[in-house]
Amino acid sequence: MTVPPSAMTAPADVAANLVVVRERIAAAAAAANRDPATVSLVAVSKTHDGSRITPALAAGHTVFGENRVQEAQQKWPPLRGQFPNATLHLIGPLQSNKVRDAVALFDVIETVDRAKLARAIAEESRRTGRRIACFVQVNTGEEAQKAGVAPLEAPAFIDRCRDTFGLTVIGLMCIPPIDEEPSPHFALLADIAARQGLSRLSMGMSADYETAIRFGATDVRVGTAIFGPRAPKAGAAD
Ligand SMILES: *Cc1c(COP(=O)(O)O)cnc(C)c1O
Repeated sequence: MTVPPSAMTAPADVAANLVVVRERIAAAAAAANRDPATVSLVAVSKTHDGSRITPALAAGHTVFGENRVQEAQQKWPPLRGQFPNATLHLIGPLQSNKVRDAVALFDVIETVDRAKLARAIAEESRRTGRRIACFVQVNTGEEAQKAGVAPLEAPAFIDRCRDTFGLTVIGLMCIPPIDEEPSPHFALLADIAARQGLSRLSMGMSADYETAIRFGATDVRVGTAIFGPRAPKAGAAD
């Protein structure tokens, strides 16, 4: 592929990009009368290898997002050996047969969207004593091909996750349709979370994290703006 030079990001630039994104987060929070400390930056390192992630870790960043269990299993154990404070969010779809691996590796699973998966995570978490925090993914655009529970089904599903399965649900996550204005999706997610008494909202990516912060995002998932462009086709789910 051809990548314009301006879009290339040398490893040394990762730390500088992090500074810029942090500043923009702080400005967006201030503009929304919010404390910047209430917005956590999840640095999405999917498809990038350890040598590109290390500058972010060395700069003191600790929260990262990956979308594939297998890829994260290969990359993260050595990085965590060096940087034991790193915490990992799973932001891609999870198959039930990978729950054991996911619970062993991730601290937060953002993509809980069906009962079978919720039950399996809760059981594995009890079996291993690893406390996994979860977000329920909501398909705010009701797109047929996209993961997530439908908005109308979300309240009952969240209750079931908490009460029946004993899952630790801390918030909601959404990925708005790529060809739509994201604001209504962010507003809908915030509304469902408020009615369910959930305080965390994982929404906003490189193109729209400032908008998401205006609508209450507490976890923004930013990849490209930190690590530069990904190779084509990369980022597909397991
Ligand atoms: C890849 C990905 C991101 C980051 O996207 P960028 O546009 O590179 O910031 C955020 N959330 C999810 C679920 C992703 O898969």
